[in-house]
Amino acid sequence: MNNGKLFVVATPIGNLGDITFRAVETLKSVDFIICEDTRVTSVLLNHLEISKPLVVINAHNESKSLERVVERISANESAALVSDAGTPCISDPGIRLVNFAIEKGIEVIGIPGANAAIMALSISGLPTDSFVFEGFLPQKKGRQKKLLQLAEEERTIVLYESTYRIEKLLEELKEYLPTRQIVVGRELTKKFEETWRGTAGKILTDFEKRNKKGEFVLVIAPLNWKTNSPLEKSNEN
Ligand code: SAM
Repeated sequence: MNNGKLFVVATPIGNLGDITFRAVETLKSVDFIICEDTRVTSVLLNHLEISKPLVVINAHNESKSLERVVERISANESAALVSDAGTPCISDPGIRLVNFAIEKGIEVIGIPGANAAIMALSISGLPTDSFVFEGFLPQKKGRQKKLLQLAEEERTIVLYESTYRIEKLLEELKEYLPTRQIVVGRELTKKFEETWRGTAGKILTDFEKRNKKGEFVLVIAPLNWKTNSPLEKSNEN
């Protein structure tokens, strides 16, 4: 019985095969789907052969649409919240809707799935017992302060970055965190998925020879981290 519930549904971060059975069942069962961009969500729904009414909630209209959506769910309709890719509310819109729904006593149920940060962590080989997710760094104000903080960070750090700013970010990491091991994941789960490992300086050199287009996740080793890899140990002998 799904009536009166809000489902927060993760969708793929590139490879459509990464949708879960539960996500498909949920998207089929709800009365309407709340999304960021109808064009993006329609591609997924067409692929899944699902046809549902779409309601857009994004950074521009969030406040206006929130109340209407919550009223509908309170009136016993069921809804699924999705974003353009991955897990809603993680560097994506939706958290205000979730908050508002909780305030109104609506049951919120997560349907887990793809997330670029967690996937990158899982293939990074860096410590995952404690990490900090910083998403996109502030573009102007506060950026330098944040980089100085990250230089002292004793936990693994996860950052998101776009095609347009990846080289700028790596140049800054080379300056502020020059010796830290970094894992850069590009286009994860997609056809041209790639992973680079090394210091920011090394990755920048490797970058010069490669295609730099796409979406990027960076996983940065904690301050003073030393690898325990048996391979590296044997190299030291
Ligand atoms: N909600 C998404 C999630 O669960 O990961 C993140 C959305 S955020 C607007 C988009 C950013 O996530 C991209 O700029 C990139 O930094 C990262 N990202 C998303 N998909 C990715 C992929 N397939 N490979 C690498 N990074 C990705």
